[in-house]
Amino acid sequence: MTTETLTTAKVLLKKYYGYDGFRAMQEPIIESVLAGNDTLVLMPTGGGKSICFQLPSLMLKGITIVVSPLISLMKDQVDALTGNGVAAAFLNSSISSQQETDIKTMAQRGLLKLLYVSPEKLVTEVNNFFTTLDISLLAIDEAHCISQWGHDFRPEYKQLATFRRKYPHVPVIALTATAEKVTRKDIVEQLNLQNPQTFISSFDRPNLSLTVRHAIPKKDKIREIAALIDKKKGESGIIYCLSRDSTKEVCETLQRMGYNVDYYHGQLPTAQREKVQNDFINDKTPIICATIAFGMGIDKSNVRWIVHYNMPKSMESYYQEIGRAGRDGLPSDTLLYYTYGDLLILTKFAEESGQAELNLEKLKRIQQFAEADICRRRILLAYFGETIEKPCG
Ligand code: ADP
Ligand code: MG
Repeated sequence: MTTETLTTAKVLLKKYYGYDGFRAMQEPIIESVLAGNDTLVLMPTGGGKSICFQLPSLMLKGITIVVSPLISLMKDQVDALTGNGVAAAFLNSSISSQQETDIKTMAQRGLLKLLYVSPEKLVTEVNNFFTTLDISLLAIDEAHCISQWGHDFRPEYKQLATFRRKYPHVPVIALTATAEKVTRKDIVEQLNLQNPQTFISSFDRPNLSLTVRHAIPKKDKIREIAALIDKKKGESGIIYCLSRDSTKEVCETLQRMGYNVDYYHGQLPTAQREKVQNDFINDKTPIICATIAFGMGIDKSNVRWIVHYNMPKSMESYYQEIGRAGRDGLPSDTLLYYTYGDLLILTKFAEESGQAELNLEKLKRIQQFAEADICRRRILLAYFGETIEKPCG
């Protein structure tokens, strides 16, 4: 970047976000995007990926299209942007046709810098509405969704390559918090990225302690969890359980012991789920027993501990879930329990998943991690393609 461009970027960063400087990787990423390269960004959750495409969008002539897999994430980001004075909007199945028409008109008049779309919308508009726009950049957030190897595969992501075929000269930036090698290769191949400039920031989360406990009887698990809660007096934590029934059971056990705790799973009515989630975010209920349905899209910086009451199904899930602790960088504890019973259940799930081979392999990797007697942080990072010099102890 020329010093002039960098100065402009910094002025915009201050003006629209109130930040004084870029984080380590953001500057070279923005430079790559502005230079018109295809760019691949692998950065852990909370690392600051959004700015890597949002800031360039402010400096580019036309509009930036952003693909995002979740309606709630889209809304959060667009609310934050418009709140900061950036012209942004979204198109997905949650808006009325009148709203859709208004947004499209604004985009056509060049009044929007960022337009968020669901992957379905992108596919339907590629040969229609999009042809009426001056598109400067395509950003694909949560790009791991394109890979079947990844932890949340979305079939619609497979069709995103149609954009590339239709608009071969529009640069693409793909972003994900999954740096695992197979996923990375899938993203590059399936999106047909051309000589992508790849940026990988460290996945190490030195502020998280990683503890693993094997074959602990239920009663002792609860006792240990209670001790952890006592140690973390009043602080937020999540207990991930394998089954919906056990979220309720563990919750009620802890409630009987006098703790302020609630439970959450995907089968609860929407209103109840929203309440549980909001009470957690607002620190009214500090502790939630939940299935993995809980947490996606929750941006809470002061979660101080995560317990896996049962074995997670893969390293990706584990990393993602423990990653919800300590986003503010302060020391946080994670504790994983597993039994051979868990492994049996997960093996059964994997076998019935329709992708048995893949999911059994993933299960094997998390089992190896849990059983390891060398530095676990090292194994975790090695899985994501990183090496560290020495065991951390
Ligand atoms: P990701 O998408 O990688 O999970 P986000 O883009 O949501 O991360 O950013 C995470 C947090 O970091 C947000 O609160 C964001 O405002 C903040 N952030 C990003 N870049 C900067 C920066 N340069 N200076 C200060 N805070 C930043
Ligand atoms: Mg993000």
